[in-house]
Amino acid sequence: MEPDCIFCQIVAGRLPAEFVHQGEAVVAFHDLDPQAPVHVLVVPKRHSRDIGELGADPEAAAEVLAGIRGVVDELGLTQYRTVFNTGPGAGQSVFHVHAHVLSGRSFGWPPG
Ligand code: AMP
Repeated sequence: MEPDCIFCQIVAGRLPAEFVHQGEAVVAFHDLDPQAPVHVLVVPKRHSRDIGELGADPEAAAEVLAGIRGVVDELGLTQYRTVFNTGPGAGQSVFHVHAHVLSGRSFGWPPG
């Protein structure tokens, strides 16, 4: 756990979150500032900075993908967008890797 990391604090139960899923290796909770009718964050319990660091551990990466699948099943989503922002220039603001799962509206391409 990284003491200054807000997602580590949510995982540890020290900060509140509206959980959709709590598994052995991954949690999922609603984004505080939703950008779509459904906006859930899928977060590995073990701290990694970003998807590059997560990808060095294929087992942990697979757990995040399974967590996305769990959220999709739980919420009955059929069309959705998944996003991993990596680095501030790409929009990352919390440096504990997470997948955004967005649904409930249409999405443009290319992304802004
Ligand atoms: P990113 O900018 O890709 O790093 O995404 C971070 C996301 O975390 C943003 O969409 C924020 O709205 C969201 N967020 C920040 N703090 C919290 C929190 N305490 N609970 C839920 N979502 C949060």
